Amino acid sequence: MTDSIELLSKAKVGFIGAGNMAASILGGLIQSGLPAESIYVSNPSAGKLDALKEKYPNLNITHDNAEVASNVEYLLLSVKPHIMSSACADFKDMDLSQKCAISVAAGVTCETLNTILGADVPVVRSMPNTPSLIGYGATGLYANDQVTEQQREATSAIFDAVGISVWVEEENLIDSVTAVSGSGPAHYFLFMESVVQTGIELGLPEATARELAAQTALGAAAMVQQNDDMDIGQLRRNVTSPGGTTAAALDTLNEHKLPDIVKKALEASVKRAKELA
Ligand code: NAD
Repeated sequence: MTDSIELLSKAKVGFIGAGNMAASILGGLIQSGLPAESIYVSNPSAGKLDALKEKYPNLNITHDNAEVASNVEYLLLSVKPHIMSSACADFKDMDLSQKCAISVAAGVTCETLNTILGADVPVVRSMPNTPSLIGYGATGLYANDQVTEQQREATSAIFDAVGISVWVEEENLIDSVTAVSGSGPAHYFLFMESVVQTGIELGLPEATARELAAQTALGAAAMVQQNDDMDIGQLRRNVTSPGGTTAAALDTLNEHKLPDIVKKALEASVKRAKELA
């Protein structure tokens, strides 16, 4: 059992909704050492629950959302945003003030969640991203005032089981997290698509261009993570000889204002997140 999961070891964790996000987080928790018998999952249809039960025989499955809520200390609301109100209506007669509700739904504010669940309920808003599905997630977290330090640590442990997590101390910064990492994988995909396409036009077989592009992105990301005391600009300068091939490409990206384009793109993402909230 990892240190962070040790924090959760006496707790029970529940999932409302057995979709992709729930399956990946609960899989990460079990892989990190949380026993499957400590995890409860509900879903209206049987298929996804049965598939999870087959994989993790000790998992507790049910069609009853209230049964999950009554058994756990940490309740992950992993349904689509438009389903949140109807799914949580199942808790209307329950006192959730001693539990921690953790929403993964984009755009559903703490105020809305507290209106649905009760004003005194500790609520965390999370913004995970799709690489969580393969253990490489990056999740932004925001807690309302009712969330205790212990609940914060346990929530971090839950998302660290599928990648890394960071806290923001203002709720509107969840929109910035959405722009940087929530929607982020698609930004990098577009860049890599362009690299692969051009690699093909420059004569490489598609599989070769794809393999090189993916490993290069992975390598660059790992260098940033492993040199966290070094400015990313310095890492870039370290591999850019004046007048060399890298400089020729970077000069072209700068001439076409890549940094401005990225800024505009992320600002558009924040604006859209605020419109959807
Ligand atoms: P999903 O559609 O795979 O899963 C949602 C599940 O909720 C389904 O199995 C559905 O049957 C179930 N459900 C529907 N009504 C329900 C009810 N009343 N009670 C209980 N369960 C009910 O969706 P997902 O991809 O797992 O996404 C879940 C949430 O996570 C969404 O709000 C999404 O915005 C957020 N999210 C997902 C990702 C991702 O990579 N998949 C990334 C960031 C955020």
